[in-house]
Amino acid sequence: NGLVRPELLALADYNAGVSLEKMRAELGLDRVVKLDSNENPLSCSPAVGPAMQAVQDRIFRYPDREELRLRAALSRDLGVGPDRLAFTAGSEDLVSILFRMVLRPGDTVLTAVPAFGLYEICAQHASAHTQKVPFNADWSFPVDALIAALADRPRVLVICSPCNPVGAAITLDDLDRLLRAASADTLVVLDEAYVEFMDDATRGQHFERLKAHDGPWMALRTFSKAYGLAGLRIGYGIAHHPALAAAVYKVRSPFNVSATALAGAEAAYGDQDHVAATRDFVAGERDRVAAALRAMGLDPAPSQGNFLFFDCRRPARAVADHLRAQGVLIKPWHEADYRTCARVTIGRAEDNDTFLATLKRVLAEDA
Ligand code: PMP
Repeated sequence: NGLVRPELLALADYNAGVSLEKMRAELGLDRVVKLDSNENPLSCSPAVGPAMQAVQDRIFRYPDREELRLRAALSRDLGVGPDRLAFTAGSEDLVSILFRMVLRPGDTVLTAVPAFGLYEICAQHASAHTQKVPFNADWSFPVDALIAALADRPRVLVICSPCNPVGAAITLDDLDRLLRAASADTLVVLDEAYVEFMDDATRGQHFERLKAHDGPWMALRTFSKAYGLAGLRIGYGIAHHPALAAAVYKVRSPFNVSATALAGAEAAYGDQDHVAATRDFVAGERDRVAAALRAMGLDPAPSQGNFLFFDCRRPARAVADHLRAQGVLIKPWHEADYRTCARVTIGRAEDNDTFLATLKRVLAEDA
């Protein structure tokens, strides 16, 4: 009553999926097929458990705020100075921190839509406005329209590639065009939460283009997706300049990356074979699920992520509710103009089979 800022009370809740425990209890099901949060179907590297165990005798100490070992490994592999990295409790946390760092009331965040819901929510927290440019009909990035909007010098441009929820990756040429069009007043945020799932042909190259750009920019990465550590909460940003990374440390809560998260992420990062196995498995299953969706007339967008976005050709919320009643979770899209679309995560083969069979049944009942 009058305490919370009124514009925050008006915010929609972030739809972060459901509690598995609650769902199992509600539906009385042993097995819930959870394909709504883009998690790793193969879980994390087996090296993670022992590494987390090994920090138990130090758990009474605060975590290493310098994140020295992980920082050194990433700095070496990414070819940037260690002072250009900033670690946070997942990349969600980094979106929130970055937006609080740079947005003034009334500022604009420019992004293509459909888009990861958190960008708009974090913009609203900072009393900023989100300018949304719809993807092209063939699910390529709407680069011409984004370039036109860059003329107004928005404070932030977010490029999510591969894009959640669409799955499309921006082409290198399109990225170059956007970087050329962005003025020095616009922070370019390249959200690469799904970069490890990309094909060998282009994986990592977007970041190299960004590195050649004078700035200002920040790339966002996470251990939640291909590294299979969503429950641990650790991600990081790579900045064009050490000053931007340093500012993250001024805004983040001081010890928000736990000792266990750091140990788990170090071990996961050390097991690139697991990441490669994940990528190969997901690519194979993604092709198979995409072909099955196409055969059902539900053309999925081309995807480089561990998920597919498809048009149910009827309200996706109702389709998702029917699937949910049968223990299958997918994410119906919430944004206007995309409410017939849904995103499904690529799971284990048996989970994908259950999803496809249940979807077929639900759509036939609704025909
Ligand atoms: N960016 C994108 C595009 C995402 O899809 C997600 C997770 N859904 C995140 C960032 C945040 O992931 P996390 O906080 O787990 O690192």
